[in-house]
Amino acid sequence: VFRDSFLDISFPSFLIDSQGKIIISNKIFQKRYGFGVENVFGENGFISKYMSGDLNPASLFEKLKKNNCLLLNLGMSGEGTAQEMIFLNIYPVCTTKEDGKLMYLCSIQAQPVFGTTDSVLRQVAHYDILTGLPNRILFKERFEQALRNSERNGEHLGIIILDLDRFKRINDTFGHTKSDEILKQVAGRLKQKFRKTDTFARLGGDEFAVVLTDLKNFEDSSIVASNIKDAFQAPFIIGGEKVYMSSSMGICLFPNDGESVEQLMKNADSALYHSKNRGRNCYSYYSGEMNQKANERLGLESRLRDAIKNQEFELYYQPRVNISQCKLVSCEALIRWNDPEKGIIPPLEFIPIAEELGLIVPIGEWVLRTACEDLARWQKMGFTELQVSVNTSAKQFADNTLLDKLEQILEDTGVDSRNLEIEITESTIVKNITMTAKTLEEISNMGVSVAIDDFGTGYSSLNYLKNLPFDTLKIDMEFIRDITNNKNDAAIAKAIIALAQGLNLNVVSEGVETEDQLVHLKKAGCNEVQGFLISRPLTVERFEKFLKDFSVDCKSRKAEMNIS
Ligand code: C2E
Ligand code: MG
Ligand code: MG
Repeated sequence: VFRDSFLDISFPSFLIDSQGKIIISNKIFQKRYGFGVENVFGENGFISKYMSGDLNPASLFEKLKKNNCLLLNLGMSGEGTAQEMIFLNIYPVCTTKEDGKLMYLCSIQAQPVFGTTDSVLRQVAHYDILTGLPNRILFKERFEQALRNSERNGEHLGIIILDLDRFKRINDTFGHTKSDEILKQVAGRLKQKFRKTDTFARLGGDEFAVVLTDLKNFEDSSIVASNIKDAFQAPFIIGGEKVYMSSSMGICLFPNDGESVEQLMKNADSALYHSKNRGRNCYSYYSGEMNQKANERLGLESRLRDAIKNQEFELYYQPRVNISQCKLVSCEALIRWNDPEKGIIPPLEFIPIAEELGLIVPIGEWVLRTACEDLARWQKMGFTELQVSVNTSAKQFADNTLLDKLEQILEDTGVDSRNLEIEITESTIVKNITMTAKTLEEISNMGVSVAIDDFGTGYSSLNYLKNLPFDTLKIDMEFIRDITNNKNDAAIAKAIIALAQGLNLNVVSEGVETEDQLVHLKKAGCNEVQGFLISRPLTVERFEKFLKDFSVDCKSRKAEMNIS
């Protein structure tokens, strides 16, 4: 039986005895290399006939006897992208023969070329042939390293083990070749979901794993897990056929769930098992507490995904007033989420999640469009000079359709670009300075105003202020809060105001809550204020009422605001 199956193995193979003499070779070997080859290490042996370079067969034979196995590079074959590196693997095999003489199984395998000759050798030992991903050996090595780093630096680490659901059925239905193709596609899709510093590996069969280094908090691991889940949403195309796949995941965290690679992998495995029991296509944590948190977050995530479609977002508007003219000049659009389960959710609780999930791009577009539609209506009502200010997030600036969308929205709503202002924070600028600068330049060229928001809390770089096309600077409320009784805050606010004036920027103080603050800011030369003193953010209806009343009320308000 062995003999027959050996003869049919699909890659060239042969058995040699302990002297290097070929005892038997299989069909494909005979077809490719002929019958003439009788030994491996001799003068006219396989190596001297087929191996490139000037390796000495005799010394290789010594090496084999010493190490009991050998991996030899026989050079390249084929051309272009089909180029392959040919390897000869020699392993000892147990014999049932009573004389107990050692035999070696030799097989010739082709490896697609990944890089240079040296790196190919490394590839074979450390990388999975099918997917090109690190294999289990390299995974453990890197995991060990990451663990030691995290220990040293007191960082958090996560590992996710994932397994394709019902892969055996795929294997039975489609056969090995097509199933291998699916594994390759899975690897390719998932690879894009991780950072370069995370090790993503194929552990074997349909099992993959990833080590997530330097987690800011443990919840970050659930973001990665949902990203993995998303990667399976689209079908895989195999031989023109659509195949839907899913995966189950187990997540384990360091230092909470274990200290060693073995322990962490075992615990991630048991979490994976839990996912399979829960009905697959999901992820589980090793610890119960994390599972609870993950479930809450998952609920929030899935509701957030439907929120646009279900029209659960709403814009509130907060008035912005010019102090000396006592004039309502602008208003800031602030998003709220009316969640059917939890009621009104403030932006700081869902914007960060929307950013992580990539939902901020469509949400941001909705905000822009809705704000412009509202503004168009107010202009028709006669408030032609009113400006609306819209917050943006870094992800929108990374999306290269922002400018087109902006243009389209202005055209559709008929709003004059001068009446629109875009707010951007320093962290957005820092994320990708070249691209952001270019986009801001174009936004500014369109006639749209640009404001730097929350100034003072981030990098507060004077370079940005000088070089980017800002019209307005908004001082963060952190400096306004204690302005009347904290000398430092007062000095900082005053300096920012002076700086902005020097650069010809319009200065807005945010979070103004008291008369005293207002008087103080006016003295320091601030032009505009926004805050609870004037008004809280209002629903559209109440803002429209505010618009009408404010103009009527202005005189008395001026007195009220204690300004001449
Ligand atoms: P922001 O742009 O700095 O907005 C000002 C925030 O300060 C608002 O909080 C506003 O309600 C609050 N505020 C205004 N006056 C006062 C005051 O006198 N006292 C106090 N204590 N707070 C005041 P909100 O609406 O919760 O928004 C928080 C942040 O969420 C915003 O900060 C902005 O960064 C972000 N955000 C809001 N809407 C959007 C949006 O449509 N897109 C994006 N990307 N971010 C948004
Ligand atoms: Mg803002
Ligand atoms: Mg702000």
